[in-house]
Amino acid sequence: MVKVPTRRAGLGGSKPVTASQAVGPISPWVFHNVASTYHMPTTRQQMILLLSEGNCTARDLSQTLGVREKEVYAHLAHIARSVVPKGQRLLTISSRCLSCGYVFETRKRFTKPGRCPKCKSERIEEPRYRII
Ligand SMILES: [Zn+2]
Repeated sequence: MVKVPTRRAGLGGSKPVTASQAVGPISPWVFHNVASTYHMPTTRQQMILLLSEGNCTARDLSQTLGVREKEVYAHLAHIARSVVPKGQRLLTISSRCLSCGYVFETRKRFTKPGRCPKCKSERIEEPRYRII
């Protein structure tokens, strides 16, 4: 199943794209901050756009772009390097334990931690990502 990129309502004032509208050419807002040389954005380019607009979890990106979370992490690793020459960086908003509040600040990997080292809870908030 192919999913189309959508925007959460209220972000940037653009209307969300419905499935029926998205059958045709992708509307111009997709390209608003991408070089005009891009005519057909790749998954990675769409991901960069979403991450530039607001915080996203891997699950958000997976669902919005219709790719597996595993692929999202692979793209994130590449995006983290590719935005640097543009003076940007991929910010990771650390995971937090929902039971005790422990913050996984030193974590280098993109994936969500399995359990809290402090209280052993598995109720861990997903890390969020954003391009700044
Ligand atoms: Zn904890």
